[in-house]
Amino acid sequence: MGEGLLAPTISSSDSAAGISAVTLETIAAEVGTPTYVYNAAAVRGQYGSLISSLQAVPHRIHYSMKANSSHAILSLLRELGAGVDIVSGGELFRALRAGFRGRDIVFSGVGKTRTELREALTAGILMVNVEGEGELYLLNEIAGELGLVAPIALRVNPEVTVDTPHPYTRTGERGLKFGIAYDEAIPVGRLALSLPNIRLRGLDMHIGSQVSSLEPYRAGTERLLQLYEKLRLEGANDIAYLDIGGGLAVTYDDEKATDVEAFAAAIHGVIQNVPLTLILEPGRFLVGNAGLLLTRVLYRKRSGGREYIITDAGMNDLLRPSHYNAYHHIESVRPTGVRGVFDVVGPVCESGDFFALGRSMDAAEPDDLLTIRSAGAYGFCMSSTYNSRPRAAEVIVDGDRWAVATEREEYADLTGHELTELAWRDV
Ligand SMILES: *Cc1c(COP(=O)(O)O)cnc(C)c1O
Repeated sequence: MGEGLLAPTISSSDSAAGISAVTLETIAAEVGTPTYVYNAAAVRGQYGSLISSLQAVPHRIHYSMKANSSHAILSLLRELGAGVDIVSGGELFRALRAGFRGRDIVFSGVGKTRTELREALTAGILMVNVEGEGELYLLNEIAGELGLVAPIALRVNPEVTVDTPHPYTRTGERGLKFGIAYDEAIPVGRLALSLPNIRLRGLDMHIGSQVSSLEPYRAGTERLLQLYEKLRLEGANDIAYLDIGGGLAVTYDDEKATDVEAFAAAIHGVIQNVPLTLILEPGRFLVGNAGLLLTRVLYRKRSGGREYIITDAGMNDLLRPSHYNAYHHIESVRPTGVRGVFDVVGPVCESGDFFALGRSMDAAEPDDLLTIRSAGAYGFCMSSTYNSRPRAAEVIVDGDRWAVATEREEYADLTGHELTELAWRDV
């Protein structure tokens, strides 16, 4: 690195910190703030570590694109050889637009519509991860209309206990809305085998998000295998895939990321003697620490005994702190060495509009640039235009070059679908 290329301190929580201060300043000057900045090398690094640890296991990686569905990220992962896990017709549209083929796609989600199922079958996707009897009947009907056979997996709730930082990110416990209750999996499996336009290709689970312990995966995989053995006795001869979902953890603060070597060894131990291909649906693991939110300090303010740093990014840009009480590391692009304790808050008219409360951090001054780290997953894709704030831009950095991936929205984008002349109809 040359003179002036002072990289922000590389914290263990974020490999995107490999982006130099000069680059971040250039991006801020040319694209403005707030802007999401992704590091392609970090995505490649995570993908590479996952597939190399899984060498002994026949597997497919289906990136859970709800974590970050931007075209640049999808293209990057497609080039690396990933497929995708989608949860809506909109994600199917984005996946096909990014060049994924039908057979690269699995379709998850608790409330798929008739239209979405028809679109997915028409695209020839690998599997629909079916969540219940109603969906199975509907899919059978649609497949019949299209003259197709619908490949499916049964998404089973393995009813394992999971420890995630926030209850909203647990999905594999008894009594949650996700999946087929474990004790109903066999009857639903029988139903699948009896329907003429359904082909049972897999068993599936997704236990939660930001799960660093291995035991729930091991236990859940074992429970899926027990179902596999029982369903084979019922005549299920086409099951080829064991989809164990996503949820692999990354480091935001000081928590443990999933040890993928140990993860792979644990799963391998359970499935080594069955002729099934493992499917993984990682989202956060691949992109979480590959992105940051670049924001500029607007004001400093003292009020009621608290010191505030007010940024030009708000909760509409990054919802995780207010929605999940999530921790994000925050650093100045040019730390001065002066530190303090601050509430970092956005401009949105909500007390929940904060990025950090009582945080010991760089004493950033107005006009300084801050990076809000580990914002690559569930960041931009959860952003909204609340308070009529146009959505941020996205930039991707790849080695010694960078490019705008998504242009910043303009005011006119806010009202694009709003009608100023109403076409009244009689009630
Ligand atoms: C959200 C989700 C994932 C990805 O979860 P991560 O924690 O981001 O890995 C995978 N599969 C399903 C079905 C999901 O809903």
